[in-house]
Amino acid sequence: MENLIDIKSLFPEEIKEILVREGIEGYRAGQIFSWLYKGADSFEEMTNLSKELRARLGALFYIEKMRGAERLSSRLDETKKYLFTLSDGEYVESVLLSYKHGYSVCLSTQVGCKMGCAFCASTKAGFSRHLKPSEILNQMDWITRDRKKEDPDFRISHVVLMGIGEPLDNYENVIRFLRLVNRKEGFGIGFRNVSLSTCGLVDRIYDLAKEDMPITLSISLHASNDATRSALMPVNRKYPLPQLMQAAKDYTKITGRRISFEYTLIAGVNDSAQNAKELAMLMKGWLNHVNLIPVNPTRETDFRPGSKKNLQEWIRILEKEGVRATLRRTLGADISAACGQLRREKLAE
Ligand code: SF4
Repeated sequence: MENLIDIKSLFPEEIKEILVREGIEGYRAGQIFSWLYKGADSFEEMTNLSKELRARLGALFYIEKMRGAERLSSRLDETKKYLFTLSDGEYVESVLLSYKHGYSVCLSTQVGCKMGCAFCASTKAGFSRHLKPSEILNQMDWITRDRKKEDPDFRISHVVLMGIGEPLDNYENVIRFLRLVNRKEGFGIGFRNVSLSTCGLVDRIYDLAKEDMPITLSISLHASNDATRSALMPVNRKYPLPQLMQAAKDYTKITGRRISFEYTLIAGVNDSAQNAKELAMLMKGWLNHVNLIPVNPTRETDFRPGSKKNLQEWIRILEKEGVRATLRRTLGADISAACGQLRREKLAE
């Protein structure tokens, strides 16, 4: 396997180039690519290719596969959470969410995370490795096949990179995944239906701005001043708020896209009226949107959400300053929906 090429991480043009180099008709690349997106797990399944060609493909490439998956279904809503076992036995999680506008999947981009955010279960079990583009695609593939058993018309319409891992820390593989998932011959997900969430890797935000990819960039902010943010998110010590806010403003100038800021409200930590005023000052007067999220209590931390009254007060303060803010609904609250919780539970078993 070591010398074989991961075919599911390739664009059809790249497959074609290899085929032609090997003396195989280039047009076969399109057929192979479409088989991969129809869920073929082996070259043997590609029945419109000759037996001889299938054997040659098997000597050049491998098809990345999951070992298996466990699925949890919420009893409160249509949310489904998947814990996947990768080919090397590592675990990652994905979530399928149902909205009025269609089905959205929240995918993992790394096995674990190095970023160390205090409120996050994904980082507590440590970082193992980056995911390959094929392994990010396989999460969508598995969910699609699973749901099609009940609904043959099932289709994922939106992709969110907000599962386990910091997507911009696995930059090349994530960009390749996004271009693959956008291909019409593949899943055909429009860039405008993709959101990527980062904890604030400033250099990579500038790189992303140059990719000419009209996705939605979402920044996990979670604090209104440097002291609180550095305590909650170690990344802030490298890229403090003034740098991050400048990068965010530059990103909107370069791409014309509005940035979405995630702010998890944690009682007594970052949810005072003073915090709301500080946040309003950071957001005032430029193209952005704030999503307020009451913290999802996990076993790993003592963090708890604040009162409803406090939330209303927050929205009032932000609105008064002309900042657009919405309260994010918590879906799948009964199935360990905070990312990384299932992996952590599995590793503890
Ligand atoms: S919140 Fe995101 S960046 Fe922070 S530790 Fe969790 S997965 Fe990593």
